[in-house]
Amino acid sequence: MRIPIQSVTPSSGQAEVVGWVHEVRDLGGLAFFLIRDRTGIIQVTIPKKKASEAVLSAAKRVSRESVVRVAGIIKAIDKAPGGRELVPDVFEIISLADSPLPLDVVEKVPADLDTRLDSRFLDARRPRVAAVFQIRSAAMHAINQYLHNEGFINITTPKIVAAATEGGTELFPIAYFDKEAFLNQSPQLYKQMMMAAGFEKVYEIGPIFRAEEHNTTKHLNEATSIDIEVSYADHLEVMRVLEEMIVKTYEYVSMNCSDQLTNLEIPDFSIPKTPFPRLCYGDAIEIAKKKIEDPIRYGDDISPAAERAIGAEMGGHYFIVDWPSEIRPYYAMPFETDPSICKAFDLMHPRMELSSGAQRVHQHDLLVEQIKKKGLNPESFEFYLRPFRYGIPPHAGWGLGAERLVMTMLGLSNVREAVLFPRDMHRLVP
Ligand code: ATP
Ligand code: MG
Repeated sequence: MRIPIQSVTPSSGQAEVVGWVHEVRDLGGLAFFLIRDRTGIIQVTIPKKKASEAVLSAAKRVSRESVVRVAGIIKAIDKAPGGRELVPDVFEIISLADSPLPLDVVEKVPADLDTRLDSRFLDARRPRVAAVFQIRSAAMHAINQYLHNEGFINITTPKIVAAATEGGTELFPIAYFDKEAFLNQSPQLYKQMMMAAGFEKVYEIGPIFRAEEHNTTKHLNEATSIDIEVSYADHLEVMRVLEEMIVKTYEYVSMNCSDQLTNLEIPDFSIPKTPFPRLCYGDAIEIAKKKIEDPIRYGDDISPAAERAIGAEMGGHYFIVDWPSEIRPYYAMPFETDPSICKAFDLMHPRMELSSGAQRVHQHDLLVEQIKKKGLNPESFEFYLRPFRYGIPPHAGWGLGAERLVMTMLGLSNVREAVLFPRDMHRLVP
């Protein structure tokens, strides 16, 4: 019976392992193979004079990255990985790999990201790459667990929609029978409708589609958004949820993924501390003005250069609050005392934006007014506006990019590293 390579010890006696041929070395009288499964690596040593004909012929024919079944006696040996080797009486090729390989799994020959993504199935055999996705899985588990424990209901909303969330042009049109439809850019409107449905606390982890013609290291055309919406909450309350969830996620990864962090060469994984500093938008602009060459003034979007300059000053996670209403979506609640600013926020990592959120406008007429102010037609939002006429609690929420969370957590240089099969302007296959 197959046993995980990691659990083969010098005292295992007879053992059978199944895995990939990681390396092949022929030293005349001895042939060495390293066999790898997802748990580890074991050396297989074949003394040519003593081995059976069947073992010798399979060993001769096998290529790197083939899947093999090897069974035999375990012996303690100092120089081999894990202090043991397997001397086989069975060496069976289960699936023979073509040569040459499109990608060097052993990483002796470095490959660029495009080559790696073209052969992602081989790329992901590398422990360093697998570690990213094991950590992503753990982070998602921690997030689900946190939100579930906080009483959130997990919902799923449509990805095929008739109208844009924010009216922009960043939508992928699709043919939907005889109608025009789009891939949804955000679950925003639907999660708000569930506040009208009385669910009080909802979350969704799902795909968002953005047709932005960005070619950057932090934009994908298909991303994963972690979205929440909470009734009877303001922006400050959901900011607290966000920072607590981030810290819990880091803690979970730190506790449960030490092997993966080692594989990624992150020995000092540091957990951010709450509360994250709150920086007013106006003060953020002042910092940027002093540090970047491009002109920037109050009322402008925060450019990537400004993001980095402000991030360097802040040094860790922080919130930008008190945004001008003009540059935030129509659904952001203006402050009663000064409607020129609104109860919107961004959660920032020193490298980039991670999340945007706000207390939402729950007053129907104000919402219609704000939609018009943005140059949009309230009629195309009728499905969204209806719930606001039949009793809806005040509410707030945010959307957090899963890939950016993983990317910043692990210090990855490109967001594509945090997606198995990224979609960008040039990449639709595999
Ligand atoms: P940016 O200004 O950095 O392009 P955004 O403000 O357009 O982001 P939002 O609409 O606020 O993004 O979406 C909320 C979060 O979803 C973002 O903070 C980010 O983490 C994630 N996100 C949005 N668009 C993308 C994308 N194209 N690729 C990866 N993540 C994204
Ligand atoms: Mg944003």
